[in-house]
Amino acid sequence: MNQIKQVRENDFLVCAQPGLTRSQLNEHIRRFGMFFPVDPGADATLGGMAATNASGTTTVKYGVMRDQIADLEVVLSNGTIIHTGNLAKKSASGLHLNGLFVGSEGILGCITELTLQVHGIPEYIVSSRANFPNIKDATEAVISIMQAGIPIARVELVDEVSIKQINRQNNTSFPITPTLFMEFHGNKLGLQQDVEFMKEIVEDHNCQEIVFESDHVKRRKLWEARHQLAYAYIHGHPGKKMMVTDVCVPISELGNAILFAREQLNETELSGGILGHVGDGNFHVLLMIDARDPHELKVANTYNEKLVMYALEKGGTCTGEHGVGVGKIKYQEQEHQEAYRLMQQLKHTLDPNNILNPGKLISI
Ligand SMILES: Cc1cc2nc3c(=O)[nH]c(=O)nc-3n(C[C@H](O)[C@H](O)[C@H](O)COP(=O)(O)OP(=O)(O)OC[C@H]3O[C@@H](n4cnc5c(N)ncnc54)[C@H](O)[C@@H]3O)c2cc1C
Repeated sequence: MNQIKQVRENDFLVCAQPGLTRSQLNEHIRRFGMFFPVDPGADATLGGMAATNASGTTTVKYGVMRDQIADLEVVLSNGTIIHTGNLAKKSASGLHLNGLFVGSEGILGCITELTLQVHGIPEYIVSSRANFPNIKDATEAVISIMQAGIPIARVELVDEVSIKQINRQNNTSFPITPTLFMEFHGNKLGLQQDVEFMKEIVEDHNCQEIVFESDHVKRRKLWEARHQLAYAYIHGHPGKKMMVTDVCVPISELGNAILFAREQLNETELSGGILGHVGDGNFHVLLMIDARDPHELKVANTYNEKLVMYALEKGGTCTGEHGVGVGKIKYQEQEHQEAYRLMQQLKHTLDPNNILNPGKLISI
């Protein structure tokens, strides 16, 4: 089920089957001057991305998977086929079933067709790399850039430990400081002014160096370090496996949350680095562990749990984008409290025989 059923270019809508991957979709709609922005790194399927409410580096501008869904065709557990939305840009009718089924990890129904919002390819793109003396300055600079209304489309923080790992692995010599990788989407004249304004903003936050690139090849090169981060860790730790944490906090709490994550990590014997989707308040700690060593596994799980508790205390969530699956069911009650009861009732109503992904997301 990987076919594109319809492209409504004047409505910026594409109807596709759930097995189509996001790269296949983008390949097809490029000819219409359009693109689909959600990029979870891997070349995931649209059905899987909708089921997990995927997001990625462009979320700061374009939103998460839930924001891109106009309509879903869903087969319910009793075989009924429903449509959760419509083709209109907005609607005040009925309950928001798109929102209910997106992120439900397949426990409420099976998505058999998706109608997605797509976007015009921006006329001009500028990428940037900026170095800061510490994480707090870097995250606060991002808040100021967003407050200034600069059209930031990607903003990723890589901590100094990870920059060191990248340099070691790739033979590069990036300054070993917390680094922001950014991308701006807009038109040429507007972005040239934004670049000047941004230089002033980051200087106010003690930025040590900032570089900009608009050439396609140079932009790709600039982002290479960020994109190769996971590989740099994996290749640098032969025999170890990567475990990735995924909490998300209010943006204003992100700087402190990352500092907490680093302090706690330093108290363990584990090695790892921190990567943040700064515009969303979501960050990952990439932990390199020996999965056959029960002690290391226990230390990593305890560490993960500390981060989850910290995020919940700050009004955040146990998973920003990777989903609940089976591993994070244990935090659902604490995170959602009374609303969790309602979720259990919804699951029971829509799937009374518990045949759809039993044991995932919600325990009943
Ligand atoms: C290393 C790593 C990094 C990741 N990084 C990110 C990231 O940066 N951002 C992010 O958002 N996510 C991330 N993820 C999670 C990723 O988004 C999801 O795994 C992915 O979007 C799911 O797509 P898939 O095609 O792999 O789906 P699958 O893994 O096949 O399915 C995922 C879930 O959706 C259900 N499902 C699949 N298709 C349907 C359907 N048609 N109807 C109903 N339910 C369905 C499945 O039963 C399963 O529960 C990461 C995962 C890994 C392993």
